[in-house]
Amino acid sequence: MLHQKEHTNVLDLRTGQDACKGIGKEIGKFCVMTMDIPWKVTKDKMGGTPESVVFIETMEESWLDHMCEGLPPCDAVVGIGGGMAIDAAKYVSWKKGWRLISIPTILSVDAFTTPAAGIRRNHEVAYVGHASPDPLVIDFGIIRTAPPELNIAGIGDLLSMHTASFDWTYAHLKGKSEFTYSKSSIEKAQQILQMLYGVLGDIRDNTDKGLMAIVEGYIDLNTICLPAGHFRVEEGSEHYLFYELEERLKRPFVHGYIVGLGIYVMSQLQENNFEFIKNVMDEVKLPYQPQLLDIKKEDLLNSIVNVRKYVESRPKLWYTVINDSSITHEWAEHAIKDLQFAQ
Ligand SMILES: [Zn+2]
Repeated sequence: MLHQKEHTNVLDLRTGQDACKGIGKEIGKFCVMTMDIPWKVTKDKMGGTPESVVFIETMEESWLDHMCEGLPPCDAVVGIGGGMAIDAAKYVSWKKGWRLISIPTILSVDAFTTPAAGIRRNHEVAYVGHASPDPLVIDFGIIRTAPPELNIAGIGDLLSMHTASFDWTYAHLKGKSEFTYSKSSIEKAQQILQMLYGVLGDIRDNTDKGLMAIVEGYIDLNTICLPAGHFRVEEGSEHYLFYELEERLKRPFVHGYIVGLGIYVMSQLQENNFEFIKNVMDEVKLPYQPQLLDIKKEDLLNSIVNVRKYVESRPKLWYTVINDSSITHEWAEHAIKDLQFAQ
């Protein structure tokens, strides 16, 4: 583990098959931000009696603020669930100044390790506030009640370091990097990837070791990104392709799956060990096939051909291999020839 002496956003970490057992009895007065299924699998195990249990309906800021105002006085807020429930708890913790306890019941997104809460402000995503879990509770028994492929999805935003780090180095060599280039950040990202490559079978099987590798991967990624103030090692061309797809198809995707598809295409554009990273995604059984994402061949083709135009029309997006590409229809056809599509 890299993170022990370094800057992370996790104040305390509690892990184990029954890590959340009894925690409701040790945190004073508390309220819970959750959703139906996560609450069902957690409430008896964690014990204690919350002052209030809120089922999160939306992340719209106005809804969250109204909900916050209605909460009884507490010492702590417990987030139990996936990204939305955890982010809502972070928001309450930040607004009220209450202690945050995060109990992710699924590892598909990294909300449980990052400080800001992802909310919607007039339907646009915004990241606000700052909250650190004390503790972050990784209860393997509870996490294994989630569909295993959704926990595997958690590796998507880590494997993206393969292509994103390449993009950052590429931009740097072209004199186009938006941030001061850090070789040690790239090296640390490589160390996290190496750690993950060693436990792909465990991640695929959702063993304790595999689930912990995803959590540690995220915490270690924070030690790179939080001090730097940006996520350049982890976000690049692979994300930009899926932004284009999301806008084109007007629907959201499981983040880790669609990032996997982005890695599949962009590692080829980069000529960056495509076969290797494809084998990694296959071995860990990350569902990146367009068929599983209900994406038609024509849509993906159009998206790949259009991605440069898309990126260039958004000056906020960082410089990547896409900016210098001249992607033809033929290239796109070739790049996706082995994928399976929705009809
Ligand atoms: Zn991402």
